[in-house]
Amino acid sequence: MRYLSTRDASLSLSAAEAIARGLSREGGLFLPESLPRVSPEEIRALGDLDYPGRAVKIMGLFLEEFSAGELAEHAAAAYAPERFGPDPAPLHPVDGAAAFLELWHGPTCAFKDMALQIMPRLLTASLKKTGERKQVCILVATSGDTGKAALEGFRDVPGTKILVFYPSDGVSDVQKLQMQTQVGGNVGVCGVKGNFDDAQNGVKAIFSDAALRSRLEEAGWFFSSANSINWGRLLPQVVYYFSAYCDAVKAGLCAWGDELNFCVPTGNFGNILAGWFAKHMGLPVGKLICASNTNHILTDFLSTGVYDRNRPFHCTISPSMDILISSNLERLLFAMTGSDETVREYMDRLSREGKYSVSGSLLERLQADFACGWSSEEETEAAIGRMYGRGYLMDPHTAVAWEVLEQYRRTSGDDRPGVVVSTASPYKFCDSVLRSIGCRESGSGTELIRTLSRVTGTAVPAPLEGLENRERRFTGSVEKTEMTEAVLRMLDLG
Ligand SMILES: *Cc1c(COP(=O)(O)O)cnc(C)c1O
Repeated sequence: MRYLSTRDASLSLSAAEAIARGLSREGGLFLPESLPRVSPEEIRALGDLDYPGRAVKIMGLFLEEFSAGELAEHAAAAYAPERFGPDPAPLHPVDGAAAFLELWHGPTCAFKDMALQIMPRLLTASLKKTGERKQVCILVATSGDTGKAALEGFRDVPGTKILVFYPSDGVSDVQKLQMQTQVGGNVGVCGVKGNFDDAQNGVKAIFSDAALRSRLEEAGWFFSSANSINWGRLLPQVVYYFSAYCDAVKAGLCAWGDELNFCVPTGNFGNILAGWFAKHMGLPVGKLICASNTNHILTDFLSTGVYDRNRPFHCTISPSMDILISSNLERLLFAMTGSDETVREYMDRLSREGKYSVSGSLLERLQADFACGWSSEEETEAAIGRMYGRGYLMDPHTAVAWEVLEQYRRTSGDDRPGVVVSTASPYKFCDSVLRSIGCRESGSGTELIRTLSRVTGTAVPAPLEGLENRERRFTGSVEKTEMTEAVLRMLDLG
């Protein structure tokens, strides 16, 4: 299978090349030129496999250069019970019509682990397959969860260094502490004075800086990314949609062949895009419901066809969704239009004017696959409280999606069962979760972990246990104009 760039479709790469490269030189993103089909019988057969087994089948369809045995080894190591517990992606039914797909049982308690535990393996294997001799420097811009998950995935992986940039005031206490205490000999963490988009734009600028690239090449390094702009990040996420479907049938939520809706708390559009791939590979998915917080640029886009980032940026209690440039939307636009020219034009407009609008016919096609909605801060907190009353504790990101699913059910007349993709443990966002369930106690991020456990009678996830006692190794931050210098320092080239 060949991979094309969204901004120059004349480039055609193998899977290993696309993963090794991350972002295309001209700024485009790679995606497969067509999607493999999975038959109803094949989907049923996945039901008999464990999660790593399902991952091998689905990912194998996209990775021709990887043998099934090789993938099985990577999947078994990445999704091992020591890292994820007995089931990496359990489905938690709430009633006969809805369930939560819990994707936060990995080492950093957020769904990013689902991809980032296996992606470093895919990347280093891809580098070998493409004959790359240079060492790889992974740059990550994070709104909180990606950074920690990438650090865990890449720590002490031979031939790699990883540097993570996070917005200094845009992540939760627990997220910050998780990153600042990261162990490993090849890791670096750096705050950026700005918001997530500033950090992401800084990383993108570094990637497209030709002079910097050649300087690094001379020193034996090249850049790659662990953000969801890398195909190796996106692909593992397709797996859990298939997995959830099989488990939904087993739980009696639907029968084989029936359609299931998925409601996804969305930021960079990677998670929900993986669901779109699953649907177009043949998984019986009804609507993909795109859930946003107060930064509801995607809700507006999917309702009107106008993507307009000229608006205030809000810091919310669901910070991993505080994003005004959803990078992966570009992949969807390319997949739907098949035109790199159209995508280039939209992205040009976006960077020059901060907005673009799609044609009426494209909007119709978008709306055939996607529904959308958004949840205010008050609604999100109320949803956490309501669901806690029913015996289930949600983090604010998951709560945004639950609120939007409930709105959708009230207004759409669509009675297909819905799965809410649950993206983080409530323990990563203790202060807003405690407030939402009516607890007024205050304290530092880590004290609140203990409070949440005491008040709710739930167990602290093992990876967050004792966080406050670990050494804070990385406390520095830089201006957004100084990110390049931070990279050079990390590589001892500054
Ligand atoms: C990253 C993240 C999201 C957003 O996912 P995208 O793939 O960027 O749309 C939602 N919730 C949590 C907890 C996250 O970490």
